[in-house]
Amino acid sequence: MSNIFIALGSNLGNPKEQVKKGILSIKKIVGVKILNESNLYETPPVGILNQPNFINAVIKIDSDLGPYELLNKLLIIESVAGRIRIDKNGPRTLDLDILLYDSLVLNEKKLTIPHPRMHERLFVLMPLKDIDETIVIPTHGAIIDIINKLVPENIIRI
Ligand code: ADP
Ligand code: MG
Repeated sequence: MSNIFIALGSNLGNPKEQVKKGILSIKKIVGVKILNESNLYETPPVGILNQPNFINAVIKIDSDLGPYELLNKLLIIESVAGRIRIDKNGPRTLDLDILLYDSLVLNEKKLTIPHPRMHERLFVLMPLKDIDETIVIPTHGAIIDIINKLVPENIIRI
C-alpha cells in the first residue's frame, strides 16, 4: 500500500478532456489503483504568458510500481497524448508529474521527489489540498502552511 500523488496539467487540444483522458489512462496502468481525484482548476500560464490557460488536477493512487517504473508509464501516456517538448513551461497537451511517493525523497535529474517546484505552485497545491489537507511535504512542511505563505493567484475551481 502506498500514498502516491500525481499532478495533471494541460493547455492544448481541449485541456479538460486531456486531463480526464489522462486520468483514465492512469487508471488502466496495471498495478495502479486510483484512490481519489481533486477538482479541476483553471490556471493562467506561468513563465510564457501568451499561451492558453491550463487545466490542472491531482490524483491520489495506490501502486505496487516503483517510482521509476511509474514515471516511465506516465511518460508513455504523455507521449501518446501527443506531447512535444519545445519550451520549458510552454504549451503542452498533457503533463504528468509525480508529486509525492509516500515519504520518499529522491534527488535525481530523471526523478526528483517531492516534485522540485510543487511547493511554489498553487495550481498544484490547491488540488492536492482538496484530497488531503493534512499532507506534510517532505523537506517543505505542512501543505496548509505552505499555501498560506504564497501570494494568492487567479486560480478558478471549475
Ligand atoms: P515540468 O513538468 O517541470 O514542466 P517536464 O514535464 O518537461 O517539466 O519534465 C520532464 C522530465 O522531468 C521527465 O523526463 C522526468 O524525467 C523529469 N522529472 C524529474 N522529476 C520528476 C517528477 N517528480 N515527476 C515527473 N517528471 C520528473
Ligand atoms: Mg512534467
